[in-house]
Amino acid sequence: MLPIPYGRQHITEADIQAVTETLQSDYLTQGPKVAEFEQKFASYIGSSYAVAVANGTAALHLCALALNVQPGHRVITTPITFAASANCVLYCGGEVYFADIDPVTGLLDLQQVRRLLESQPKGYFHGLIPVDFAGLAVDLEQARALADEFGLWIIEDSCHAPGAYFTDSQGQQQRCGNGKFADLAIFSFHPVKHIATGEGGMITTNDPVLYEKLLMLRTHGITKDPAKMHRNDGGWYMEMQLLGYNYRMPDMLTALGISQLERADEGLVRRRQLAARYDEVFATMPAVTPLAGAPGHAYHLYVIQVPDRKGLYDFLREKQIFAQVHYIPVHTMPFYQELGWQFGDFPKAEAYYAQCLSIPLFPSLTDEQQAYVIACIQEFVQR
Ligand SMILES: *Cc1c(COP(=O)(O)O)cnc(C)c1O
Repeated sequence: MLPIPYGRQHITEADIQAVTETLQSDYLTQGPKVAEFEQKFASYIGSSYAVAVANGTAALHLCALALNVQPGHRVITTPITFAASANCVLYCGGEVYFADIDPVTGLLDLQQVRRLLESQPKGYFHGLIPVDFAGLAVDLEQARALADEFGLWIIEDSCHAPGAYFTDSQGQQQRCGNGKFADLAIFSFHPVKHIATGEGGMITTNDPVLYEKLLMLRTHGITKDPAKMHRNDGGWYMEMQLLGYNYRMPDMLTALGISQLERADEGLVRRRQLAARYDEVFATMPAVTPLAGAPGHAYHLYVIQVPDRKGLYDFLREKQIFAQVHYIPVHTMPFYQELGWQFGDFPKAEAYYAQCLSIPLFPSLTDEQQAYVIACIQEFVQR
């Protein structure tokens, strides 16, 4: 039963078989399983296209490249995210800006984004990278309206949110990454994420031009399609037209992804069930404040806020419960401080960070383990 991590992958016999089968096939790097995973993932998410890549960070980098981020481009994201959401802008020579969070949800506060946008002439900012933090879907319909008003593109960082949705103004459920409002969306298949392949990532979009560009950028900017070439020297000929990378996801890992995707909904049901139990218990503990829930929440993380976060973190470790903190605000990292950001710039994000703790939540967490986690938290807050 112990130790209990905050998140972990779930690998079945079927997963193992799917991987070993590809080892006996002709393809170790990009092969037929990549196309199959992309097609199945797009259909799960509801987007027109999907592009599998090496990891979530590579997905962000390719999105920034596909959207032409370059020196002089300014992009806004949230300080409460994994650093990669912001770093992708810097990879391309652009500048990162932050807006503060809504402390109730932990998400980027679109009112704060509006304030920032209005503080500069139109055209000053180029893009927006909202994050479906913890698995709670950003209201992308509102984000899109704001982005359109100020001429911004949107990359939705959906690493926490495969299967999550928000309800739009027409009462329709809109899945994270479905391409209806964001130009591009990205996912990660790191072991703690919903679908685990070790390393792996996905970009989804409904834009055929961006899709074609992403396919090229993923493999060195090279095309082998005679219809797209400037010239054709013969059967061997291929053409490098863009400065791309090797960001491919291998067939072995996409086979694992396909197998995991088949259990995605099952995992989501279990995550929501565990979260509902936590909600119920913490409603009776005034010292513990969870982030806001929602019917479409995918519960990548279950985040509570407590006054003595360090005390609880250390106490849980003694009990062999390995909680984690998501996230140390990006603007407080020494690297970003060297760029000029300072403590105090985003007080709500900093206040959230001072109290937040992600407690164990993953599909294979048993009722017994969850009861133990709850009992330990109860013991701590009643001391
Ligand atoms: C995991 C994660 C990433 C990066 O994904 P990798 O596959 O680890 O590169 C980016 N953004 C968020 C919000 C993440 O949780």
